[in-house]
Amino acid sequence: MIDGARPDVLSKLLETGDLPHIKTYFADEGSFVKGTTCFPSTTGPAYLPYLTGKFPGEHHITGIRWFDKPAFFQGRWARNAMRSYCGYEAKYFNDDMDDSMPSLMETYDDCYNIYNMITKGVKEENDLTKERKTKLYFRSHFKHEHHVVDEYGHEELMNAIEQDFQFTFAVFPSIDWDSHSYHFEDDRTKEAYKIVDRSVAAVVKRLKEQGTYEDTMIIMASDHGLTSTHSHLDLGKFFKKQGYRVLEYPSIWTLFPKVAVFISGNSFATLSFLDKQEMYDKEALMAKHGQAIQAFVKEPAIDFIAMRNEAGNISIITQEGEAEVIVSESGVGYRSITANPFGLEDTIQPLTEAEAFEYTFESDYPDSLVQCQQLFASHRSGDIVVSAHVGYDLRDFWEIPEHKGSHGSLHKDHMHIPILCNKAGVLTGPMRSTEVYQIIRDHIDQ
Ligand SMILES: [Zn+2]
Repeated sequence: MIDGARPDVLSKLLETGDLPHIKTYFADEGSFVKGTTCFPSTTGPAYLPYLTGKFPGEHHITGIRWFDKPAFFQGRWARNAMRSYCGYEAKYFNDDMDDSMPSLMETYDDCYNIYNMITKGVKEENDLTKERKTKLYFRSHFKHEHHVVDEYGHEELMNAIEQDFQFTFAVFPSIDWDSHSYHFEDDRTKEAYKIVDRSVAAVVKRLKEQGTYEDTMIIMASDHGLTSTHSHLDLGKFFKKQGYRVLEYPSIWTLFPKVAVFISGNSFATLSFLDKQEMYDKEALMAKHGQAIQAFVKEPAIDFIAMRNEAGNISIITQEGEAEVIVSESGVGYRSITANPFGLEDTIQPLTEAEAFEYTFESDYPDSLVQCQQLFASHRSGDIVVSAHVGYDLRDFWEIPEHKGSHGSLHKDHMHIPILCNKAGVLTGPMRSTEVYQIIRDHIDQ
């Protein structure tokens, strides 16, 4: 997992000869395609498609933070009323996953883990960074020395391949961290790609010495792209100005809150209005909170907002107007009403998941139709889903240090990801990250 790697940056570095081993073993001898991650395009939830073949909405893990309106009204301090995996609640991630969709680590006995927060199914002694992860992550953030984390992860990866393993998941986090701290093409970020390249060289060399290289499939992929951030809109502050009492992390003690604001990856948020216990649809929401919502979509930071509507479809609203994602038993579709936020032609027939992927892949919002569908299938999407414009984020006041990069949105700069494999002919064209799961299963099961 080359967390936060952009396909275009990776391609450029391959062309300039900066990643000679990735070029040889993946681009030349194997396969390299552009794919899509999920919505929200954010670390953690975006690992689920690879590990379980399912989207975050299917697991009801709709962000790095989520709010569960029905659970909240059953008991505000109930364990499943809200979540932020950014703090001590990270340990709940495993339990929050849907048991009916087991991960690769639950499926196979001999699995090893390096830095992945999803450890469900990994034997304790095989979670190789368990002891040192917290301290290493903390120190590297505090001292702004990210690369030491990847270097240590590489050492543990070398230990993992000495074992008789079936599946090993290793995260290289520095591309994401450097992109957040500096820029996605900063020299320090490029160096993070080069660390991965050197790791590939050492891993392949060792597997060849062992005589196991031919039997080993290596998949390298990222969980989201990343863009640089020039402006911030604090959603909590926005709604406070509109006269709402706001419930948000970390100030979750607000008395009589009127709206819950939950941000993920900084370019994605969910809003839940708390004057009604049931989930809102668009018609009721606009009748009750139309003034604040109209003002909200006019903010330059807001690309679009999405909400369920009375017809059972998903309304996509921008300051220009509105369209809808049509959801039916026979597939998904798209229809412009007063605007065309996704820049797609109206569909005539319902599209299957595969057709919907092809229909949207090269648009500005790749896989938008299925991604909206999967997200809104969970009530933890809130009443409103917010996707920020590229260049903006929805950071909260508490965020230190200031982020210079963002992801989480449905825009192609966040949704497109590189997917590489050391086997030729395995990746035959653009694909969803969920499809990688089956490729891995087929290889292990063969
Ligand atoms: Zn990430």
